[in-house]
Amino acid sequence: MSKKRILTGDRPTGKLHLGHYVGSLKNRVALQDKYECFFIIADLHMLTTKPSREAIEAIGQNAHELVLDYLACGIDPSKSVIYLQSAVHEVCEMNLIFENLVTVPRLQRVPSIKDMAKSANLTEIPFGLLGYPVLQAADILMPRAHLVPVGKDNESHVELTREIARRFNTLYGEVFPVPDAMIGDVPTLVGTDGNAKMSKSLNNSIMLSDSAKEVEKKVAGMYTDPARIRADIPGKVKGNPVFIYHDIFNPDTAEVDDLKERYKKGKVGDVEVKQKLAAAINNFLEPIRERRSQYEGQKGLVEEILFEGTMKMREEAAFTLKEMKKAMGLSGVWNKISRKAEEARKKRERA
Ligand code: ATP
Ligand code: MG
Repeated sequence: MSKKRILTGDRPTGKLHLGHYVGSLKNRVALQDKYECFFIIADLHMLTTKPSREAIEAIGQNAHELVLDYLACGIDPSKSVIYLQSAVHEVCEMNLIFENLVTVPRLQRVPSIKDMAKSANLTEIPFGLLGYPVLQAADILMPRAHLVPVGKDNESHVELTREIARRFNTLYGEVFPVPDAMIGDVPTLVGTDGNAKMSKSLNNSIMLSDSAKEVEKKVAGMYTDPARIRADIPGKVKGNPVFIYHDIFNPDTAEVDDLKERYKKGKVGDVEVKQKLAAAINNFLEPIRERRSQYEGQKGLVEEILFEGTMKMREEAAFTLKEMKKAMGLSGVWNKISRKAEEARKKRERA
């Protein structure tokens, strides 16, 4: 039996950060042998909040950085397809077909849409942004994926994809699997500023490609317990971003437990807690940095990977769209018209 499939990806709005890793990338790397994987660089999705010319001009470079981040984390391009969304035009046609299988009030209830509008400083929601999860459904269903490894903020989008897949199958016949979301061990990683979500746009991220020095600087400036203005004041560990990160990135649990105990008693300074955290994060990032620089040196490699992946996805897209139209009876309409027109033309020529 052929392998089940994964589709997931990122918008080309910048380099990837620790939140992307724990929310989605870690699962992608872990599952790339078990599943046939498709990773999308979702530049059309970027347009829903960033349609500016500058943002579009930056797609090429950002896509390049994204692929480097993937490779650095251990994605193997010989096993997985990495492709550029806007170069596979079938997605627009699928999107349009799916738009008719979902209502406006249903889309208005998707929580992340308002969050995205807010963080992009949009006072009113563009038509395309409202349709963000519908376009995402088209991405996911294009290779007929079964599993979607994403962060918590994307869970409601996969739920909508499931509804669309079921509705399509009920109306027209079984074309799509109903995909499951797979949320990472850390569903939403907090930002270095204590904000609920680490996010490129909020300037509260530690990038996978940050240097050791940059990590040290960012960790030193991290938000901790604001009530603890001196090292001898007992501090709060629960919900404290510094300890949340220690729990995730520091494998030395004895050290973490000791720091927590001393912090709660007012017996350790922030400097020590943060220095140990920076060291742990740097240990985690070091092999990623090393692989990144190896790939960075190979000119044109990233573009070759993207080109090959996009060509493969085009085949999948053409196949799926054909199956959809067949199931819907749409292709039959045009076929009949063409046949009758051809017959009429021949008849005229004979006369
Ligand atoms: P940002 O919010 O940092 O600008 P983004 O949300 O634009 O990034 P996307 O391309 O929308 O990035 O998301 C890519 C994937 O990474 C999604 O699956 C998303 O859920 C996940 N993700 C992004 N930020 C986090 C986070 N802080 N914690 C966990 N998962 C995250
Ligand atoms: Mg997002």
